[in-house]
This record gives sequence, structure tokens and C-alpha cells, in this order.
Amino acid sequence: MYQPTEILIERGEEEAPVVQRALARLPELPVHIVEKDWEQRKARPAGNDPFGAGKRRLFFTRQRAGFLEHCPAGTPGLVCCNYLVVSLISNCPMDCSYCFLQEYLANNPTLKVFTNSDDLLDEVAQVVDRQPWRPFRIGTGELSDSLALDALLGFSADLVPFFAARKNVLLELKTKSDCIDNLLRLESHGRVVVSWSLTPPAIADTEEHGTAPFANRLRAARRVQQAGYKTGFHFDPLIEYPGWETDYQQALEQVFATVDPRGVAWVSFGSLRLTPPLRKAIRQRFPQTRLLSGEQVLCDDGKWRTFQALRVTMYRALITQLNRLAPTVPVYMCMETAPVWRKVFGRAPGCDKDVARSLTAPNL
Ligand code: SF4
Repeated sequence: MYQPTEILIERGEEEAPVVQRALARLPELPVHIVEKDWEQRKARPAGNDPFGAGKRRLFFTRQRAGFLEHCPAGTPGLVCCNYLVVSLISNCPMDCSYCFLQEYLANNPTLKVFTNSDDLLDEVAQVVDRQPWRPFRIGTGELSDSLALDALLGFSADLVPFFAARKNVLLELKTKSDCIDNLLRLESHGRVVVSWSLTPPAIADTEEHGTAPFANRLRAARRVQQAGYKTGFHFDPLIEYPGWETDYQQALEQVFATVDPRGVAWVSFGSLRLTPPLRKAIRQRFPQTRLLSGEQVLCDDGKWRTFQALRVTMYRALITQLNRLAPTVPVYMCMETAPVWRKVFGRAPGCDKDVARSLTAPNL
């Protein structure tokens, strides 16, 4: 259970619904009203792990830039699935050793929650309602876990009804938590995919600090599926270690022993990818990690990845297993190059829209 040490509220945002919900659930915490430029002026928390300490400072503020962005996989050289992201939260209460936020938010002294979810919904409506013929996929799990704080913040009650009312857009809530109770009270009309990022228990228990155990994630997946939600699963990052093949194959078996494949919108696979500053942060914060002991090479986009032949071996092994267990479930790879797609699937998507189309088919 996430326990912040203090609450900071931008002056003028005290009455925002999400602030009121959080204050009611955390009545004992010290609360400070701060000016809107507080973050620029305030130094990072002191101590030997300022990034970890910053996660426990809960800061409510307005988002003044736009919310809707393209997923960073839209990088030249990588096959893209035209995924859009929106962030109501920036930073995560969990602390996976491989998390890119350790680099991306390295100087961020807080876990930031945006108070103007109504602006986010207006912005999304402007885009998706003007193009009713075009299918969209939009996710909230880019800069935080989508659901880990939902019991505290209750954003699902803003998001689910909005997306449930639209036929040309799927909302993806991506999580490593089992915080689904609010979802069970909402009607999704099949327009919301609740997806779990999964690694085998041997990795989840040692590298994904503060997340729900593997078995709890699967139980939560079954419950949301029974409540009418689509589910998705992301084996990303795939981590190579002695015994990886057996562990990942068993993980896939457990997924499809628990959920109905007919309600699975997609499964994705992605390799471990680490920039040099992220590797440095991991070494400092998680000296016991197994992440850096695999065979990795520096790629054209400046990230270290598992070397290509081994990536292809891993993808092939797991996609073969997936096809055996759930042959009709759509599958894709995240942030991979066209040559790797060709080696794994025998062909690369003709254009970016091919992947997007296969994931937003009418039956979804
Ligand atoms: S759950 Fe996701 S966002 Fe949160 S720490 Fe882990 S990798 Fe980062």
C-alpha cells in the first residue's frame, strides 16, 4: 500500500475533486499549499535515494501543456502501432528496477497528480469525435501505473464512462497492481482493455518492487474479465536469465489457465532496453539486480538491448507457445525493428497502420 509522507497542493487547486478524494483517504498527512512554480524552485529530496523519496511526495497540480501524446515507440527505425498516451499521473508508487522513469524523471522531486482530468477528456473528445471513422487506442500507463493509485485518486470513474460511450476508441489501463475494485462498479461496454505487465514470479518478486505478486495480477485479470472488460498482457521487458524459457512458458500457461482467451484483446512482447544513464541509475539504486548480467549490445537508437539473435530466439519461443495456447489472440512486439519482425513473423507490417488495425478490429 502506497504511503506518501506529505501532500503538496498547488494554490487554487484545493477544491479539485481528485484532491478532495485523496484528502478524505489520507486525513493524517501533513498538507502544504504551494505556488505553481514550486517544483522548479524546490530541490530534489535529500538523502542517498532522492528519486525513491520523491515518489512519496504527493503533489497535486494542473497540467498546463496538452495531455495527448504519441507513444515514444514512434521512433524512426522501429515498427510503430500508432498508440496514443495520456498521463494524469507522472511518476509511479511502484519501483521496478528497470523502470525508465528513473532516468526520465530523474530530477523530479515528486509524484505528480494532475487535477484537471476534465481538460484531458475535452482534449481527447476533440480528436476522436472529429474522426469517428478512425480507430484509436489510448493508454494511461506511460508515466505511471494506470491503477495502482486508483483506490486513492479514483480516476477510473472519470475515464471509464467517457471511453465506454465511444465506439472508435479503446482505452488501455496498464498495471502491475491488483487494484481493480473501482472498475468492477463501472460499465465498460467492451471499450476498456485492462492489461497487465507480466514477468515470471522469479523476476516479479525480485525486480518489481511494490507491485502485486504474479498470481494476484492474474486473479485480478479474471475478475475484470468477468465484469465485462477486455484484458491484455505485456511480457515487456523480456528478461534473459538461466531458466527463462521454462519460467516464461509456465507464466503464459498460467495466464491462459486463468483467463478466457476470447476476452484477450492483445498480448505483446518487448525486449529489455536500457539507455546508458538508466543503466547507471539501476546500478546505483539496485546493486543486486540481475538485469545487467545478460548479453546486451548498444543499438542504433542509443539503447542497450539483449543481442538480436537471442531476442529473436526469445520472441519465437514465446510466440510459438502463445499460438499453441491461444491461437486467435492478436500478438505484436513493442519497440522492435522491421528486420526483427521479419525474423519472428516472416514479414514486417507494410505500414504502421497495419499493426494498429489488427489491434482495433471491430470485434474488439
Ligand atoms: S509499474 Fe511501470 S511505471 Fe511503475 S515503476 Fe514499474 S515499470 Fe515504472
